[in-house]
Amino acid sequence: MTSIGQIAFDLPGLDTGPDLASYRWILANVSGGKDSAAMLYELVRQADAADVPRDRIVCVHADLGRAEWEGTRELAAEHAAAYGLRFEVVARIGLDLVDRIAERGMFPDASNRWCTSDFKRGPVRRLMTALVREAENAGHLGRVRILNVMGLRADESPARRKLLAFSHDGALTCPCRDCVLRRAALESAERRGVPCPKDKKTGHGASNTLRHVDTWHPVHSWSTNDVWAAVKRSGLRPHPAYAAGMPRLSCSFCVLASRPALVRAAQLRPELAAEYAAIEEKTGHRFQNDVSMAEIIAEAADASSEVTAIPCWSG
Ligand code: SF4
Repeated sequence: MTSIGQIAFDLPGLDTGPDLASYRWILANVSGGKDSAAMLYELVRQADAADVPRDRIVCVHADLGRAEWEGTRELAAEHAAAYGLRFEVVARIGLDLVDRIAERGMFPDASNRWCTSDFKRGPVRRLMTALVREAENAGHLGRVRILNVMGLRADESPARRKLLAFSHDGALTCPCRDCVLRRAALESAERRGVPCPKDKKTGHGASNTLRHVDTWHPVHSWSTNDVWAAVKRSGLRPHPAYAAGMPRLSCSFCVLASRPALVRAAQLRPELAAEYAAIEEKTGHRFQNDVSMAEIIAEAADASSEVTAIPCWSG
C-alpha cells in the first residue's frame, strides 16, 4: 500500500521516528507477514517509550479473500492480540480479488496496480474516515492526525527502495502549509502552460480537510536478517508459508513476484494456480506479461524444479 502523495519532511529527530504522541490514531497495517510483525514490534516498542496509550493504536488488515495464504487474517489478528491492540478488518465491497480479476478480464501489473488501490488503500481510507468520526464523537476538535504505519522495506524491491521512511500523505484538499504551497506551484504552472515539476505535486494522498495523514515505514532500512531477529524477539508466530520456502507472504500469487516464487506457490496451492490459469484461458491475458500461469504450473509439476533462492519482487 504505497502512498502516492509522498511529501518529504525535514523533521528533526526523524532517525528515532516521528512524534508518535502527536497523533490521535496510529494505524498499523498488519498483513500477518514477517515485515508487518517486525513493524508492529518496533512500533509498539517506540509507542511505549513515548507513553502513547495503546488504545490509540489500531491494527488494520486488508482482506483480499482467497488470493491470500490460508490463515493470514487469523494470524494478523493473533499478532494484534499479542499486544492487546484493537484489530479491524477491511475489504473491498463486492467480489474478492480472484473473482474481480475474472470479472475485469485482466490481471493487475506493476504500472496498473488496481489490486492495491482497490483492495488495500481504498478500504483502509474508509477506516480512516470512520476513525475521524469516532474521534469527533469523543469530543476531538480540529483536524484528526493519523499516522499510517506499514512494514515496507527498501530491500524488498526497487520501487520500495525509492520510498521515504516518513512522508506526508498530501492531497489537493489538504490545508496544511506544504500542500497549500504545492497547490500554488501547480496553479502557477497551469497558468504558464508548463508542466508542474513532479516533486512539487500535491499527490492524491489520504489527507483532507478533516484529517492530516502521514505515512511511516519504521523498518524501511532493515535487512531481512534484522526483520527475522525482531520477529524472534517479539515471540510472534510466523506464517507457515515461510517454512515452506516463500520469501514473502502477500498474495500467494503476486503479479510482481519472481518466477521461482510463483513456481513454489503453485506447488503449495495447485487449486488456486489452476483458477488463475483458467482465467488466463478465458480472457486471453497472461498472469504476467512474459509469464503465464500455465507455464508456472508446468514448471511446478516438474519434480526436478527445486526452488531455492527466490529473488525479490519487481514492484
Ligand atoms: S500482493 Fe501483489 S497481487 Fe496482491 S495486492 Fe499486492 S501487488 Fe497486488
